[in-house]
Amino acid sequence: MMAEQKHRAEILDGRQLAEQIKREVTEEVNRFREHRGVQPCLAAVLVSDDTASAVYVRNKVRASAETGLRSEQHTLPATTSTEKLLDLVTDLNRRDDVDGILVQLPLPKQIDEASIIEAIDPAKDVDGFHPINVGLLALGRPRFVPCTPAGIIELLERNKIEIAGTNACVVGRSQVVGRPIANLLLRQNATVTICHSRTRDLASVTRQADILIAAIGRAAFIRGDYIKRGATVIDVGVNKLTDPDEARSLFGAEAGKRIETIKQRGYTLVGDVHPAEADQVAGRRTPVPGGVGLLTVAILMRNTLQAARQRREMS
Ligand code: NAP
Repeated sequence: MMAEQKHRAEILDGRQLAEQIKREVTEEVNRFREHRGVQPCLAAVLVSDDTASAVYVRNKVRASAETGLRSEQHTLPATTSTEKLLDLVTDLNRRDDVDGILVQLPLPKQIDEASIIEAIDPAKDVDGFHPINVGLLALGRPRFVPCTPAGIIELLERNKIEIAGTNACVVGRSQVVGRPIANLLLRQNATVTICHSRTRDLASVTRQADILIAAIGRAAFIRGDYIKRGATVIDVGVNKLTDPDEARSLFGAEAGKRIETIKQRGYTLVGDVHPAEADQVAGRRTPVPGGVGLLTVAILMRNTLQAARQRREMS
């Protein structure tokens, strides 16, 4: 009993790994520029007044500069029509100096999101959302892999966490996280179960998992009794928490710091996994913040470099 109380899951540090990936990309970008005489370019498109989307785009533009990529940001008003955005995408597709195109999602309601994603040249689709890239991944022949799932695989591999032969459970089936990470884990020979809001007795399924991926969007939804002892738990969720009392029960030893953050900023971030309970049961877990989120941007930089290489080697 004493040992159980003391158990604390190892924390998988996404921050350090993201920095390492960005350093690797920087070296490769420098080499690319020396050999080819061109600087790979990412075009980021923001169509919204939403502050969260603006912060995401700003982080991507900043990371581009850090890794030696050229970037340009196109900001359109929230009232933009599908046609207007299609015009911009078509223009970016045509431009030879643009290697990667990123349209920040979600788009405002009046825009037909699917037709925008389908309009992006698959060879420049660094988010990996175009049906051709989705299809290639489903076939087990990935080209551009969505950034968050690719970051998760990188985190597992570089921490030498065995994937082949393990039971992996993904909670969530979105196009952005759940489905692509399930395909990637399957490709690495895990036995994969995908759960969603219609899954019966979710805890009994997740408790079988050696690797549990939570991509739900509900604060601290995965409790201790959802987790197999010693499992690796990857927490993709990003949720805002404003209640200091909740923070006290969720964050264990870290609660004081989190309550302070709520006082200063009005909220603190929590994942889809209950951190204090996961600490008692899991073998390893990713924190929020400081886990999967930072890897997403680092992988986007790598995808942009990959796009530049593939396009320019083919031409
Ligand atoms: P999403 O499109 O809303 O999908 C959520 C999934 O969770 C759906 O498949 C849904 O099932 C499932 N779900 C909802 N309630 C459930 C329940 N009670 N039991 C079991 N499954 C349930 O969300 P998303 O885009 O995948 O994002 C998930 C979370 O990850 C969000 O918090 C988001 O902010 C975060 N995220 C983080 C990053 C990053 O870089 N760190 C990137 C992307 C997303 P149904 O399909 O049946 O509705």
